[in-house]
Amino acid sequence: MNNGFFSGRNGSDALSVFLTALALVTATAASVITDEVIRTTVTLVALVFIAFAVWRMLSRNIAKRRVENEKFLSFFRAFRKDPQKAAEKKQKKEDRKTHVYYKCPECKKELRVPRGKGKIRITCPHCGHQFIKKT
Ligand SMILES: [Zn+2]
Repeated sequence: MNNGFFSGRNGSDALSVFLTALALVTATAASVITDEVIRTTVTLVALVFIAFAVWRMLSRNIAKRRVENEKFLSFFRAFRKDPQKAAEKKQKKEDRKTHVYYKCPECKKELRVPRGKGKIRITCPHCGHQFIKKT
C-alpha cells in the first residue's frame, strides 16, 4: 500500500501515542468535574492533545516530527534511573552498617571510612586534606 492515507505522512509514533493517552486521561478527569467552566476547559485541553496527536500523525514534515519525537523520548530517558548510579546507591545502602561516608571539607569529594574506629584522622585521597571525624 504505497498510496494509502498515511503514505508520506508521519503516522503514529511514541509522542502521538503519549498525547492520545494524555488526552484520554484528561477527558476522563474532565468527566468527573462538576464545575461546568472547569469541565469545559479541561475537555478543551483534552481536545487540544488529540488534535496535536492527529496533526502530528498526518503531518508530511516527517523529519521535523521525528526530531520532536526524539526530544520527547530523551526527555523521558532523563527521568529513568541511571543503572550505574542505582548500583552505587544500593552499594552505599548495604555499606552503611560497616562504613561511614564523609564529604571532604576541602574538595567536597566523598570519602568512605570504616565504621566503629572511634575518633580518627582522615586523609583525603583526592587533595591530601586531613580532618578528624568520629566513625
Ligand atoms: Zn579532599
